[in-house]
Amino acid sequence: MKDGLRLYDTHAHLGTAKHSGRIHDTDLLLRAMDRVGVDRALLIPFPVVEDMRREHDLIGAAVRARGDRFTGAACIDPFLSTDAFRGELLRCVEVLGLRALKLQPQYQPLNPLSGRAESFFGMAAEFRLPVVAHTGTGVPFSLPSLFIAPARKFPDLTIVLGHSGGSVYMLESIVAASVCPNVVIELSSLMPHHVLEILQHVPASRLMAGADLPESLETELYKILSLDISREAKEDILWNTGRRVFDGGESNP
Ligand SMILES: [Zn+2]
Repeated sequence: MKDGLRLYDTHAHLGTAKHSGRIHDTDLLLRAMDRVGVDRALLIPFPVVEDMRREHDLIGAAVRARGDRFTGAACIDPFLSTDAFRGELLRCVEVLGLRALKLQPQYQPLNPLSGRAESFFGMAAEFRLPVVAHTGTGVPFSLPSLFIAPARKFPDLTIVLGHSGGSVYMLESIVAASVCPNVVIELSSLMPHHVLEILQHVPASRLMAGADLPESLETELYKILSLDISREAKEDILWNTGRRVFDGGESNP
């Protein structure tokens, strides 16, 4: 809570990353959250890990221990066999209680227009899991506009454009969200004036704040607080949208 507003970090990473060497445990994340006043975070595995199942177990345990602070997401190699993918997804949902699916095209080069992507998004829709797609770095498969196709194919599926395409492809995120009501934008890595530009086209009820890394929590969440926008818009971006998309619409923790 900050300035009387609840804060939801919709993009946090827990676990051990092979590509960056980062190690984030729950103590580290909770300390950062408490320092900044963040009430709740979506825990997402890193995209390159030694053992995907172990990373999911870690997030499942965090969600079980601190359901008051954490919601969990799965991140499964989209190039696994359909059976192996489905099996792990089922375990993540039914055994571990995870509630979202991450796609990281920079390290998982899934063409969003391909048949394999149709199977990926189809399973997310079947399990009623919102997909958080990293967008921006990792072009071409991380271009925000490419997610228009799966969003149209699966209108009941929510697709969150992580990082909003970054500063360079931010306008594509506006296009995708304008033509697809089930596309939501996560605002990490953007400059404050980019957020204002997005708000000219997309309502705050479809925008959410995220940090990506604990050292960015203050910058990313307080940048929303600092904007000259209505208190209602801040409530939506900082809490309501994340709560609705990842926790099923309850307004209180
Ligand atoms: Zn991420």
